[in-house]
Amino acid sequence: MNKARRIEKLRQEIRKHDYLYYVRNEPIVSDYEYDLLMQELIALEKDHPEYVTPDSPTQRVGGEPTEEFPTVVHPALMLSLDNTYSHDDLRDFHRRVTELLPGEDIEYVTELKIDGVAVSLRYADGFFVQGATRGDGVRGDDITPNLRTIKSVPLRLLSDDPGLMNIEVRGEVYIPKPIFRRMNAERESRGEKRFANPRNAAAGSLKLQDPRLVAQRGLEIFIYALTSEGEALSHFESLGLLDTIGFRVNPNATLCSSIDEVLASCASWEMKRHDLDYETDGMVIKVNSPLQQRKLGSTAKSPRWMIAYKFPTQEATTLLRDVILQVGRTGAVTPVAILEPVQLLGTTISRATLHNFEEMKRKDIRIGDSVVLEKGGEVIPKVIRVIREKRPKGTTPFGEPRRCPICGGPLVRLPDEVAVRCENVMCPAQLKRRLFHFSSRGAMDIEGLGTALVDQLVEGRRVQDYGDLYSLTEEDLIRLERMGEKSARNVVAAIAKSKNNPLYRLIFALGIRHIGVTAARILAEHFRSIDELRMSSQETLDAIREIGPTMAASIVAFFANKQNLAVLEKLRRAGVAFETAGRDRGEEGLPLADKTFVLTGTLKKYTREEAGELIRSLGGKISSSVSTRTDYVVVGDHPGAKLKKAMQLFITTLTEEQFGELLGQ
Ligand code: NAD
Repeated sequence: MNKARRIEKLRQEIRKHDYLYYVRNEPIVSDYEYDLLMQELIALEKDHPEYVTPDSPTQRVGGEPTEEFPTVVHPALMLSLDNTYSHDDLRDFHRRVTELLPGEDIEYVTELKIDGVAVSLRYADGFFVQGATRGDGVRGDDITPNLRTIKSVPLRLLSDDPGLMNIEVRGEVYIPKPIFRRMNAERESRGEKRFANPRNAAAGSLKLQDPRLVAQRGLEIFIYALTSEGEALSHFESLGLLDTIGFRVNPNATLCSSIDEVLASCASWEMKRHDLDYETDGMVIKVNSPLQQRKLGSTAKSPRWMIAYKFPTQEATTLLRDVILQVGRTGAVTPVAILEPVQLLGTTISRATLHNFEEMKRKDIRIGDSVVLEKGGEVIPKVIRVIREKRPKGTTPFGEPRRCPICGGPLVRLPDEVAVRCENVMCPAQLKRRLFHFSSRGAMDIEGLGTALVDQLVEGRRVQDYGDLYSLTEEDLIRLERMGEKSARNVVAAIAKSKNNPLYRLIFALGIRHIGVTAARILAEHFRSIDELRMSSQETLDAIREIGPTMAASIVAFFANKQNLAVLEKLRRAGVAFETAGRDRGEEGLPLADKTFVLTGTLKKYTREEAGELIRSLGGKISSSVSTRTDYVVVGDHPGAKLKKAMQLFITTLTEEQFGELLGQ
């Protein structure tokens, strides 16, 4: 292919990926693959400057403002960053900087590159007035109401300095790793698409139209730039100033007086970063002096005084020995790679997700191939590509299965879904998963009902739906493998105890598609009994703000299914509480029953959501403000005014460690 045609082809390809990544938040290639295309284009344009056009992806910032939000014109351009991938590239960057600043000493600041979404926050008279996305660098989306839901965005600055009342700051909104993992697990259990990485999850969350839903996403922010007013300050000093006036600034910035120190700082974070609870994909290196920054200026796409150093992607190559099919609770059948065990980031990997059959087809992954694995934002490693040159003779493309690997039932693909599903509700694989979900901690919380037991109960046909659990006797269980008398007694007791669970637990446990634990809580508060929920129409459900039409349709379909109604009848006859009153009985004996908690500051081990969930699961309540009715105030890092109030009212305060002890963790 001649050079001009290759350049055009690369541009088309990159534009397609930009759209999928920035607008749809659904990239179909990994960042590594995207960066390879971009590097090739940059290299070709460098050799053939005559082909460079202003609309080339190398010349502009990737995103675009959307039509869903009002558009904001940025007071100062919000640019992207040039990327480097090796220490040699960084030395080249330093050489370019010194050539433009002959004879000057140069100090750099290294910072972690937080893998999230860039935003700008504007303050007027000390109050937060406008927040926007980067968009195309000139214009972005006005997402002020969504940004106001992030607790660490100060709505008012902690300063009376008149010079600091009208400022614009920039930072990165991100999703902490534990929340990201849970979010994807929940999406998967509802049969929805997983987010490709924490950055896409953060971007998708910021684009939600309902700020209340945004508030539930657990977003966080780090501020890394003061773009106005702070012009006399060095970059490092401005980070300190941002911290004192109330912004959350990442504590890991380092001032370096030589490029060698910069390289050492980058190297030291390469492994340490895996211990952080947020995703980083590299470091950002910035010239410290504002005067030097101005002298260096910027190109159309990025400033010349800062650069990103991307950590080498954590990849490994191994052999794909087999592909097995896994059947989920909702019947979704997914391909899983069985690999020749290989080391990646300190763990041995022998399985990896292949997501779905479409993706396998697109990447043309075949059994017998040598494949490249990547461990990115997610804990589960994924197969990113095949090494074609190493493909042995005689392999065949992996066809999409037509029948369920467990029950042999036909598989169907629903419109708008990538997953193929087994529609047979009696399929043992689904049943096992459903029972597992039913008894899990967040649902009916039946201790002792582990995989080994569920497998035996289903395979022996003793349990054919979760209603059958309630007729199990000690004798039934003792007969099974690895079951002593005592464990059998405990399991039967745990099943009996679950009858009095709060209503929301039962609703969640039913495994209605698209109904996660939060929706289950809302439904339980609204309907107060399973029967009321069963009788509700699509319209009544639609009228509940937090319940979308897909959820409503799924609830109606669940209760329209005769088999489901028969199982519910079994539960009713067994004495499982179908009404909210059951909740009061259920929570009484719990260790934190009637205790009200208020949280302030940042906890290290738990997100706010997790701490709240734990307190509630032990019967306690969470309140957003301190009053004489508060029992405990849990104090994390950088506590707010709530701590002061707690001291004034003599409320017991708990450190994170004491809180952990109280929870019995
Ligand atoms: P970038 O992510 O390479 O770097 C720029 C961004 O870094 C800034 O906008 C800012 O948001 C962020 N940042 C984080 N911490 C920072 C700090 N301490 N100081 C300053 N900035 C900080 O550039 P980009 O333009 O946002 O995105 C381009 C990248 O996105 C590509 O390199 C690629 O990896 C990825 N991408 C992937 C696809 C795909 O299909 N997989 C498509 C498009 C882009």
